[in-house]
Amino acid sequence: MDSHTLLFGVIGDPIRHSKSPVMMNRAFREAGINGAYGAFHVRPDRLGEAIAGIRALGFRGLNVTIPHKIEVMAYLDAIDESARAIGAVNTIVNEDGRLTGYNTDGIGYVRSLKEEAEPELGGKRILVVGCGGAARGIVWALTREKPASIVLANRTEERARELAASFAPDAGVTAVRWEQLREACADADVVINTTSVGMAPNVDATPIDPAWLAPGAVASDLIYNPLTTAFLRQAQARGCRIHGGLGMFVYQGAYAFEYWTGRPAPVSAMREAVLASFAEGGTAASSAAAAGTNAD
Ligand code: NAP
Repeated sequence: MDSHTLLFGVIGDPIRHSKSPVMMNRAFREAGINGAYGAFHVRPDRLGEAIAGIRALGFRGLNVTIPHKIEVMAYLDAIDESARAIGAVNTIVNEDGRLTGYNTDGIGYVRSLKEEAEPELGGKRILVVGCGGAARGIVWALTREKPASIVLANRTEERARELAASFAPDAGVTAVRWEQLREACADADVVINTTSVGMAPNVDATPIDPAWLAPGAVASDLIYNPLTTAFLRQAQARGCRIHGGLGMFVYQGAYAFEYWTGRPAPVSAMREAVLASFAEGGTAASSAAAAGTNAD
């Protein structure tokens, strides 16, 4: 670091479990950028002061994680279309004192799905299981790929209906009842688990019976703790292609890096850094469990 170093960071509560500093500092090193990225524990009642600090100190960029993704929007100068549609910000770009909020979670997930499992989503039938906080960004990003259909199912059915209704009628997003999941699975080319079922420590649980998937379909899971969930393992045994959640984390960071620097992100080095950090702390599951949270 010297007096030209560009400053970056992530704010959240809690934050000490975050793998973002390890991943992003590796990205800056790999790209030869004089940047430094820290993790800052910001409690909700100090969010406004934290953002004022970012402005005053001239940070170039910031990631925002739970619980600040919605509330932070009130402190920014502009909100990009992605974040407005999703209703949450995870990345801030500081352009000469003007702070713009973006959301890279959904587009990060879709880029990872396309790079690692299914390059062409156009015309595909997609089933999204679970409609919590992470699902909205993913469904929004999926609609931009022009799939044949996006079907939503959630244990609390009302949330699936509400999420489907929030998209334009021509976006092709519909909701089914939880009891209709078996049928919906058989009809899907891509089945995405966005529930927390199967996350450490409950690593044997599956959100749905993987035997319901059509052989050859893509089974995708947002969870990366463990890196391969029971849902993915069992789906793979049935002849499905599988896609785990680590890529979503890596690519949401890759987009943030690209917004901040205008340069392509060194994605494989970023992934390697996160995996190495898991290895140092034991498995993904054990290091996250020790932090009492998921490993995001
Ligand atoms: P969230 O807002 O708390 O939503 C949880 C979802 O799981 C809801 O749809 C909930 O359904 C469902 N669910 C919970 N327990 C269930 C059960 N026993 N049976 C059926 N459904 C159940 O969480 P989130 O922020 O969306 O995160 C969801 C998952 O994605 C987590 O595992 C998280 O670690 C992972 N994630 C990964 C990344 C990444 O970068 N890879 C990023 C974000 C999130 P109800 O509505 O019925 O409660």
